[in-house]
Amino acid sequence: MALSISGQGPRGRGRLVLVAVVLVVAGLALAGALRRGPAPAVVITSDHEAIGPATTITAHFSEPTGGLGAVKLELVQGERSVVLAERRFARSGPFSLLRGRVTAETDLTGTAGRKAQEWLKEGEAVVRATADRMAGPLRSGAPVVVEKRMAVLLRPPSLELLSRQHYVRQGGSGVVVFRVGEGVARSGVRAGATESLSFPLPGGGPGERFALFAVPWELDDVGQVRLFAEDAAGNRSELPFVDLFKKAPPRTDTIDLSDDFLARVVPAIASQTPGFDASGSLLDQYLRINGEERRAVLAKIAALAKDTQAAFLWRGAFLQMPDTQRRAGFAETRTYLYHGKAVDHQTHLGLDLASTEHAPVPAANSGRVVFAGWLVIYGNAVIVDHGYGLMSLYGHMSAISVKPGDVVAKGQQLGNSGSTGLAGGDHLHLEIFVQGKSVNPLEWLDEHWIRDNIANKIKLP
Ligand SMILES: [Zn+2]
Repeated sequence: MALSISGQGPRGRGRLVLVAVVLVVAGLALAGALRRGPAPAVVITSDHEAIGPATTITAHFSEPTGGLGAVKLELVQGERSVVLAERRFARSGPFSLLRGRVTAETDLTGTAGRKAQEWLKEGEAVVRATADRMAGPLRSGAPVVVEKRMAVLLRPPSLELLSRQHYVRQGGSGVVVFRVGEGVARSGVRAGATESLSFPLPGGGPGERFALFAVPWELDDVGQVRLFAEDAAGNRSELPFVDLFKKAPPRTDTIDLSDDFLARVVPAIASQTPGFDASGSLLDQYLRINGEERRAVLAKIAALAKDTQAAFLWRGAFLQMPDTQRRAGFAETRTYLYHGKAVDHQTHLGLDLASTEHAPVPAANSGRVVFAGWLVIYGNAVIVDHGYGLMSLYGHMSAISVKPGDVVAKGQQLGNSGSTGLAGGDHLHLEIFVQGKSVNPLEWLDEHWIRDNIANKIKLP
C-alpha cells in the first residue's frame, strides 16, 4: 500500500493570511469566506485488504475550515478507470454566497471488484480519492488527491480436505483437517451463520490446518455445514465434508413461573447486576433478565471465546460432577408459563446436574480459568478454556474458589454448587462451547465419542 498526497504548500497559505489581514477591516462577513486552513484530509479504508469479487471501499473526507466543494472516488487499472462515487456541495443557509453553511466532512462508499467491474485483471489497481475545497473569491481550486494501491486477486484459494469419516450430529462438535493454498486469510467450518475458525495443525506441513467446529443446535440442514477458505480479497472456496449427519431437533418443555420463584430470583439478580433496569413488575424484570440480559451474557461469552490458547489443554473424556443426576438436558426449548399463559420462550443449552446442596464442583477437564464471577442468568459462574476454542462453563454456584488465569487440573474444585442466577434449586449447569457456540456436552463426556470423532483425526497429546 502506498499513499501520495498533492495539494497546497505552506507558501500559498502565507500569501492568503496576508490578504486576509488587510481585509479584516472590510467586514467580518468576508472573513469566513477567505479563511483557509490545512488541505482537506482524505482517508481510504476497505472491508478487505485486497480487491476481489466485491470489496467495499470508503473514503472519508474532511475540511473543517473552508468546507468541501466536491469529492470523488475512482478505481483505476491500466488505461481503464471508473468513478465509484462522487458528490458536490453548495453553501446553504442565509448569505449563502459568502457565509453559508459548508460541509466539513463526508464519506463516499463504492464497490470495487469483478462483480462490478468485469474488466478487472489479476495484479494491482489504484483507488483514487479527490477532494476539492469549497470555492471562494480568492481561493484556488487545486484538489487534494490520495491514492491507495491494492492487490487484485480473482481466483478462489485452494482448499483440500485431509481427514475422513465426518459423522456429526445437530448441536454436536467435530474436528476436520485440511490444507489451504497460499494467501488464505481465514478458514474453518461454516455451519449456517456460525463460523468455527481453524488453527495450524500441530506438527503439520505447509498450509495444513484443523478446526474444532460446532454444528448449531438450531441447524438441521447439513448442506449448510461446509469447510471454507477465504483470501484477503474475499475470494472464497467451500467444500462439503460431512459424511453422515444426524438430526437432533430441540426437545420442548414447559416451565411454570410461580410468584414465589420470581420473588426469590428476580430481586437477587437485579441487586447484583450493575445497570439493571429494575422497573415494572417482577415478571417484567424476569423477562428482561431472560431476554436482554441473556443475550448480553451470550455476547460476553462469545467475546471470551477469543481468549483461547492454541493448545490442547484437556486430556481424555470430560468429567461429569460425581454422584449427580442429569436433570435438564441440552437443547430443550422451554415455554415459560405465568398463571397458565405463555410469556417467554428460551432454549436451555447445558446439562443440569443435581447432587447435594453446596456440593464441590470439579473442573470437567484441565485448562485455564478465563472467567470467574457474576454472569447474571448463570449466577456465579466459572469458564475454563481447554484450548483451540473449547470452553466449559459452570453456573449457579454458591461459592467460587478460582480466579481468572488459574491453571486447573481435571477434577480440581472450582467452587460449590448453588442456586444463584436463574435456578429453581441447587444444581450445577454445565455448558460446553466451541468458539462461543453452545454444543452438546454429552459428546465430550463420552470417551468413545472422543476416540471416534476427535482422536482418530488429529493427534492428541
Ligand atoms: Zn441449566
